[in-house]
Amino acid sequence: MANSYDLAIVGGGICGLATALAASKRGKRVIVIDRDAQSNGASVRNFGFVTVTGQKAGETWGRARRSAEVWRDIAPKAGIPVLHEGLLVTAQRSEAVAVLEEFTATEMGRECRLLTAQEAAAKAPVLAADRLAAAMWSPHEARVEPRQALPRIAQYLQAECGVDFRWSTAVIGVSDGGVETTAGTVEAEGVVVCPGPDLATLFPERLAAYDLRLCKLQMLRVAPQPPEWKLPGAVMSDLSLVRYEGYTGLAASKALRARLDREQPQWLAHGIHLIVVQGADGSLVVGDSHHYAATPDPFAPAAVEDLILEEAGRVLALKNSKVIERWTGVYPSAADRTAFIDSPSEGVRILVVSSGTGMSTAFALGEETVASLYGAAS
Ligand SMILES: Cc1cc2nc3c(=O)[nH]c(=O)nc-3n(C[C@H](O)[C@H](O)[C@H](O)COP(=O)(O)OP(=O)(O)OC[C@H]3O[C@@H](n4cnc5c(N)ncnc54)[C@H](O)[C@@H]3O)c2cc1C
Repeated sequence: MANSYDLAIVGGGICGLATALAASKRGKRVIVIDRDAQSNGASVRNFGFVTVTGQKAGETWGRARRSAEVWRDIAPKAGIPVLHEGLLVTAQRSEAVAVLEEFTATEMGRECRLLTAQEAAAKAPVLAADRLAAAMWSPHEARVEPRQALPRIAQYLQAECGVDFRWSTAVIGVSDGGVETTAGTVEAEGVVVCPGPDLATLFPERLAAYDLRLCKLQMLRVAPQPPEWKLPGAVMSDLSLVRYEGYTGLAASKALRARLDREQPQWLAHGIHLIVVQGADGSLVVGDSHHYAATPDPFAPAAVEDLILEEAGRVLALKNSKVIERWTGVYPSAADRTAFIDSPSEGVRILVVSSGTGMSTAFALGEETVASLYGAAS
C-alpha cells in the first residue's frame, strides 16, 4: 500500500465511500481510513431505503434523485441486490389522503400515483385493509440490505477503482498535507472528513458552529413472513407524513398533525413513524423512533418497540410478528439543514449528513464534495 495519495478520506460509511467513488471517477488516487474493522455506523444500521419521495423540496430532493441513479448504476457492478423498487405510502385518515392529494399535485409528486383503498389492496394484499383509506405509489425508491451493500461497495472500490482502505485505524489529526493516524502519517494533497456522529475528534470547533445534536433510532427485524407474503416496495403510514419534510411543508399536513396529536400523541412523543421493508429471506425491517441528545443513552426501551410494532400492525396484516433482531443507530442532526460540506482550508472538506437521509443522498453529496475540491466535472 502506498503512503501518498491525492485524497485521504476519513470514515468508511456511505459518505466516505460515495466521496471515494466520485474522486476515483476523476482519476484521483484515494485512500479511505476508518477506525473500525468494517463500516459499522449508521450506514449499516439503516433500512437501506433510498428515498426520493418525501425528501425536502429543493437540493435534498435533487440529491436523492441523483443518488438513486448512482445506486442503480453501482448496485449491479458491486453485486448488490436491489430488493425493492418503489414506495407505498398508506393513508388511514382523510387528512392523510388530503396530504397525498396535495403532494401529487406538486412537481415532486408528478410521477407518483394516488391509489384508492381497493387499488392499494390489490397492489399489496398484505395491507390491513380495514383501516386503509387510500395510498400513493412512488416509483423512485430502491432498497438494498445495508449490511451487505457497504462491504460490497468497499470491495468494488478496492478491486475496480484502485481505492486503498485502511481499517482499524483512527485519524487523530488533519493538515493540508495529509492525516495523522494511530498507525502513522498518511500524506495526501486533499482530505475529506466524513465523521458521522463523531463530533469531538476532528474539527470540533467547526462542527460546533452547526449546532448539531445526535439522534438515536430504534430498529427491529421481524421474522420472515410466509413465502406468499410480499411487500411491493417500502411501506409508510400517516405518521411519516408529519415527519418527512417533503410533506410537512404542505398546507394539508397541519390538519393531519392536529389529528395525530389527538390520536397518537405517544408515537409523536417518541418521534415514531413507520417504514417497513422486506429482506431477501422474507424478514421485515421495521422502524423507527427518534430521540435527541448530546450523547444518546444506549438503551432501547421495550415500550418504544411496542409502539413501533403496533403501528406496523395497523398497516400490515403480519403473519408473524416475532422480533428476531433489535439494534439502535445514531446520526447527527441539525434543525436547519439536511447536510453540509464545510471547508476548513483549501484542501480539506468536512461532509456531514445532518438528518436521516444519508443513504438516499450521499452519492450526490460525494460528487459535490469532490467538485468543491477539484472543480465541476467536465
Ligand atoms: C437506524 C437508522 C436508520 C436510517 N434509515 C435511513 C434510510 O432508510 N435512508 C436514508 O437515506 N438514511 C437513513 N439513515 C441515515 C443514514 O444511515 C446516515 O445519514 C448515513 O449512514 C450517514 O453516513 P456517514 O458515512 O456520514 O456516517 P457513518 O455510517 O456513521 O460512518 C462514519 C464513519 O466514520 C468513522 N470515523 C469517524 N471519525 C473517525 C476518525 N477520527 N478516524 C477514523 N474513522 C472515523 C466511523 O468509524 C464510521 O465508520 C438512517 C440512520 C439510522 C441510524
